[in-house]
Amino acid sequence: MPNMSLKKNPMPEQAPEVRNKNFDEVALGYTEEQAIDEAKRCLNCKNKPCVGGCPVHIHIPAFIAKVAEGEFEEAYKIITEASSLPAVCGRVCPQESQCEQRCVRGIKGEPVAIGRLERFVADRHNALAKKNAEKPIPNGHKVAVIGSGPSGLACAGELAKKGYEVTVFEALHLAGGVLVYGIPEFRLPKSIVAQEIEGLRALGVRIETNIVIGKTISIDELQTEYGYEAVFIGSGAGLPKFMGIDGENFRGVYSANEFLTRINLMKAYREDSATPIQRAKKVAVVGGGNVAMDAARCAKRFGAEVYVVYRRGIEELPARREEVEHAKEEGIIFKTLTNPKAILGDESRSVCGMTCVEMELGEPDASGRRRPIEKPDSEFTLDVDCVIMALGTSPNPLIKSTTEGLDTQSWGGIVADENGKTSREGVFAGGDAVTGAATVILAMGAGKTAAKAIDEYIMNK
Ligand code: FAD
Ligand code: SF4
Ligand code: SF4
Repeated sequence: MPNMSLKKNPMPEQAPEVRNKNFDEVALGYTEEQAIDEAKRCLNCKNKPCVGGCPVHIHIPAFIAKVAEGEFEEAYKIITEASSLPAVCGRVCPQESQCEQRCVRGIKGEPVAIGRLERFVADRHNALAKKNAEKPIPNGHKVAVIGSGPSGLACAGELAKKGYEVTVFEALHLAGGVLVYGIPEFRLPKSIVAQEIEGLRALGVRIETNIVIGKTISIDELQTEYGYEAVFIGSGAGLPKFMGIDGENFRGVYSANEFLTRINLMKAYREDSATPIQRAKKVAVVGGGNVAMDAARCAKRFGAEVYVVYRRGIEELPARREEVEHAKEEGIIFKTLTNPKAILGDESRSVCGMTCVEMELGEPDASGRRRPIEKPDSEFTLDVDCVIMALGTSPNPLIKSTTEGLDTQSWGGIVADENGKTSREGVFAGGDAVTGAATVILAMGAGKTAAKAIDEYIMNK
């Protein structure tokens, strides 16, 4: 008998007034009983609309049916036919605009909690799995992967399974891309990312950290001196944008990327960390996406009063609903329909306020969203001692500027076809480096697609 409850089984989580003072994971995960009960809400629909909403087409009803039967390992096998990072995607995928958006149970009530079930299955597998994966038989071919974010990891994993000798070159000292330097511990524990990376190492993937391609080694050298037959660029979109207003170079102004990197990668939140970070009293985070929510929630955990300053209304916030709700519960103050004009500094050039104007929404612009317009005579000063800019990012121009014959878009994205093939022979690309800032699952899917194209390219050479 299906469970016809209109509501999802709630996710156990830390109470807001407790979690806004620590960096432990907010959502605690389903128990076996809760997972089975939730799985029974699935109607195993014949035309499977949910599968069409998943960018990598996980066979959702089949894995959920196995959860309902208590066959959790079978469920894991079904998920991993399509996804190589289920413990990550179950946590951070924007399910409400992907798989769960298409779920028929969402028409009269809440959709099946597909993401929570995926997380449950992956966590259970990881807790019980034997660690010694068998190394595939080498096929004698070498591929280089630039960047160890989800696109690079997925590409490396797929190729390693086929017997390729794969080396991942990572600029930072730790592998994982945004999963380790951007998304905070309280949304995605780093032990989960480390486990995925250990799995790749067990398959024989080599990960070389502290190597910046374009500075330490060029793509030319990878293809000639080092003998890599193909190169995959998964270097992401880590270059932050600023507004270009006065005061952005004052002490106490961060890009969200820098702020989050200090906290997540360099563990500034730990008592024993030597990473310098400003423990501000009042913080303004400018922007309204997931990155802004992450920065705001981190600043709150450092004990600050935190404002999210966004020029459109609360309805237009591009961040996931769940993240906005979590942020509100934790005490973040939303200053919507507000736009910064200048950052103010004291005599030591440290931030001592931010001048803002109030906005109202006019006619829709090219993006279809209503255009924010300044309200006359509405200027005011927000009393803050730290400003974090979370206005989006673009691909770093380093690889383009050091690689001949690699076409890029005017905004910096690498031009690649639907299989990840670029304009340069033997060079493939995917993830945020091609699309601009997007999602983990899209980057992972692009890495897998490119791995298939690389295999075909090398085998047909
Ligand atoms: P990245 O994850 O950016 O990895 C690229 C890697 O390449 C980095 O490790 C970088 O150091 C390395 N690199 C760059 N240049 C070089 C070079 N020249 N040589 C060697 N290495 C290099 N998506 C979601 O789906 N859900 C979320 O909740 C979510 N939250 C996010 C929160 C934050 C704070 C941020 C910043 C992003 C978030 N995203 C989220 C987006 C998602 O993380 C990205 O779309 C995804 O990580 C892109 O993967 P990627 O492999 O293309 O690049
Ligand atoms: Fe949904 Fe993401 Fe899982 Fe696909 S990978 S089923 S979109 S949670
Ligand atoms: Fe189950 Fe919803 Fe998919 Fe139907 S649409 S198969 S109810 S998850």
